[in-house]
Amino acid sequence: MHELSIAMSIVDMAEEEAARRSARVEAVHLKLGLLSGVVKDALLSSYEMACEGTSLQGSRLVIEEIPVVAFCPKCRLPRTLDSIQWFICPECKSPVSELLHGRELQVAALEISDQEIPA
Ligand SMILES: [Zn+2]
Repeated sequence: MHELSIAMSIVDMAEEEAARRSARVEAVHLKLGLLSGVVKDALLSSYEMACEGTSLQGSRLVIEEIPVVAFCPKCRLPRTLDSIQWFICPECKSPVSELLHGRELQVAALEISDQEIPA
């Protein structure tokens, strides 16, 4: 299970950080791109499983979904794509080139006993 191993590495990282600060992790904020290949709901339930028996038990995983943004060479602008299947500019319908956002799978912040710190 792909999501479970991801959840476990997030929990590991957060536990380490919590131990280093001798604090308790209340929540983990995660940026998840729509092209990351990770299923949000599966990750949420895997996270609960991964937290069991660790110091993170009862903490929350807060997922921010990141839309797919690509650079349109014709408009010369970054564009948010309507579909993750079709890599075309929503304005001018040209094929987009460079993918700017959408593959994120990254811990953005940890909430540790009421304070939010950047990861
Ligand atoms: Zn365009």
